[in-house]
Amino acid sequence: MTDPFSLYVHLPYCVRRCSYCDFNTYAAAHVPEERYAEALRRELTFAANRPEWQGRRISTVFFGGGTPSLFSPAVLGSLLETFDRLFGIEADAELTLEANPGSFEGSAAERLAGFRRAGFNRISLGAQSFNARHLATLDRIHSPHDTIAAVDAARAAGFDNLSCDLISAIPGQTLKEWCADLEHALALGPDHVSAYSLTYEEGTPMTGMVKAGLVQPADEDLELEMFRATRSRLSTAGFEHYEISNFARPGRASRHNLAYWTWRDYLALGAGAHGFAGVQSHEKAATTSWGRRYANQRLPETYMSAKPGAWHASEESLTREMAIAEYLMVGLRLLEGISRSRFVELFGVALAEAAPRASELRDAGLLIDDGDRIRLSERGLELCDAVIVRIAAG
Ligand code: SF4
Repeated sequence: MTDPFSLYVHLPYCVRRCSYCDFNTYAAAHVPEERYAEALRRELTFAANRPEWQGRRISTVFFGGGTPSLFSPAVLGSLLETFDRLFGIEADAELTLEANPGSFEGSAAERLAGFRRAGFNRISLGAQSFNARHLATLDRIHSPHDTIAAVDAARAAGFDNLSCDLISAIPGQTLKEWCADLEHALALGPDHVSAYSLTYEEGTPMTGMVKAGLVQPADEDLELEMFRATRSRLSTAGFEHYEISNFARPGRASRHNLAYWTWRDYLALGAGAHGFAGVQSHEKAATTSWGRRYANQRLPETYMSAKPGAWHASEESLTREMAIAEYLMVGLRLLEGISRSRFVELFGVALAEAAPRASELRDAGLLIDDGDRIRLSERGLELCDAVIVRIAAG
């Protein structure tokens, strides 16, 4: 295979854990950046000799976490150099760094200029809210002012591709407050907005507070109103709604995340990272599995001390049925939906045959059939989780 692939790098450290977070991340007073970077290099060198990645170039890199911006520009820049040396990073590659507005020790301007010089050309800022009370509920380490300062510093550093993450349906948040958050975000002129509803994951302090009756989650109607307000306001502001929770100015959709949603391969490095090497045509699948997923050791210490080849905590080969269900689940998240012709190319079977419930969902007004593509309708978008689960169930 010679197609370029996407590379995800997980950096699992944060200043402290946010109340809602269930990502694989650990509060750390000091980040062992050199040791961790060395472990990433070892894993990457090993991957460079694996048949599924060998000889392929990198089209997108995403440093996620955790809080990647706790690492120094010098260390992250040297990792980018290693990626380029071992695989070759395409000239127009999208190189994203996830950053927490409260993570810049000393000067945000200096730090962000360093990341830009290191080669990153896209920054994804975890603003989450511009309301100090809601930031406190989420246990974020930054203030609204830190986010504004970080955006200014990122622009001054030359980042012309900037994404802003927001969270809606925070306990106690009103529709008016959410709309004010959207206005604050728009005033900063982002190129991309990710707007997710708060989710309550098992084991987080936030979920514990809900169970103890200390916090009241937003009700479904309010959540829906917030979703509608987001769609309406961001489309008026010139953003394209291209994925259930993601909005972009023309040409600024996240190429890295599109790789996930369009069933492209991604190599993932780092503690707890999940990677995927799929099968891009059904002819190949006749002789092999329908793709392989893996998850790395979660604990940073275990990951850093793993022997070569022992990074994976689990691996799974996909059956055809699993591959089809996953393809439908991720593909339908995109507003443009799924192409019937690509589906046949990948799986060697018609979409109607593999997903017989599609016609029933279309008749119910939840899916739109455009000829080559099926996609969620307006109503389907609002009920997306239920629709996607239903169609993927076969
Ligand atoms: S900054 Fe992000 S990764 Fe870190 S604890 Fe908060 S939500 Fe989790």
